Amino acid sequence: MNNLKDYTLDELTSFLEKEGYHRFTGRQIFGWVYKRGIMDFEPMSDLSKDTREFLKNNFYFSSLKLLKEERSSDGTKKFLFALDDKSCIEAVLIPESGRNTLCLSSQVGCKFNCNFCLSGQGGFKRDLKTFEIIDQYLSVTSLIRDKITNIVFMGIGEPLDNFLNVTRAIKIFTDPAGMNFSKRRISVSTCGLSPQIKKLGELKLGVKLSVSLHSAVDRVRSKIMPINRKYPLKGLMKAVKVFIHMEKYPVTFEYTLIKGLNCSGADARKLAQLIRGINCKLNLIPLNYSSSKVRPPSEKEVDDFKRELKRNGIFFTLRKSKGQDISAACGQLRASHKKGR
Ligand code: SAH
Repeated sequence: MNNLKDYTLDELTSFLEKEGYHRFTGRQIFGWVYKRGIMDFEPMSDLSKDTREFLKNNFYFSSLKLLKEERSSDGTKKFLFALDDKSCIEAVLIPESGRNTLCLSSQVGCKFNCNFCLSGQGGFKRDLKTFEIIDQYLSVTSLIRDKITNIVFMGIGEPLDNFLNVTRAIKIFTDPAGMNFSKRRISVSTCGLSPQIKKLGELKLGVKLSVSLHSAVDRVRSKIMPINRKYPLKGLMKAVKVFIHMEKYPVTFEYTLIKGLNCSGADARKLAQLIRGINCKLNLIPLNYSSSKVRPPSEKEVDDFKRELKRNGIFFTLRKSKGQDISAACGQLRASHKKGR
């Protein structure tokens, strides 16, 4: 049996054509499943009885098991799901200024071990399948009343390390025959896998790219993000420029401020130097929890950093952490579930 939600429209169409069915059948199915939310072949009244029978014998519809739902006082909702192999993943819904942003996971665990991020704690287990990405969206949609307006791949995992499934999921989200989700309302966030950034640009999917920068100094960045040893800043910035050239659209740099590590005046000047002239946005995010290894910056550190950026003519937004009271930062709910809290 095949999982229907594991197929892009192209893949479904060629599968059906090979079996002797009409090219158009895939489109009809996409309409029923993703436009109308019908997860059953029987009611698909514009398909012949034979076709429906074939589909019933060859495809099934999956669903995720909701383990836990938490709601923050600021409206952020966090959903913990169990997968078939009992792995857990989380999705976070962030309602903010007229938008409903859904933050999706792309892997179970993470390989990249950024020193401030909880997603990698407990190691890497596996890539998510395409349908597990789609099912996060469909499950949350069925659990809330509002429409999801934006999708960000900023949950657990590194989306560009699960390139094939993430890009297939994007194709399904954006297919006009189905959900028809707006491309520019989907953001892929990466710790900086330079070759995959170029590859994503070359695919021209039309989605936005966020790069988790966190330092403009190789020595410091390597300390915060071990991946920088493999893909240092020079090559990373080249890849980012290729992406901008292909997509003709600005990238966003994410910069998490960590006490004593990356938020001095000198760090701000280096950052200004690195991104000046690049078609980009800069998002500052104060670290949103404290551990023995890393701490949030003081107010003064944040103010000094901001002032130095402004002095250097760099525009930025300062993002407030959402869902502080429900462990909404990457991997936090999953981490606390594992500890049995
Ligand atoms: N692997 C991808 C996507 C997941 S992380 C990436 O690295 O971009 C999504 C964003 O949240 C990244 O910018 C990451 O650096 C940031 N982040 C993770 N944990 C954080 C924390 N505790 N405080 C602030 N930002 C955090």
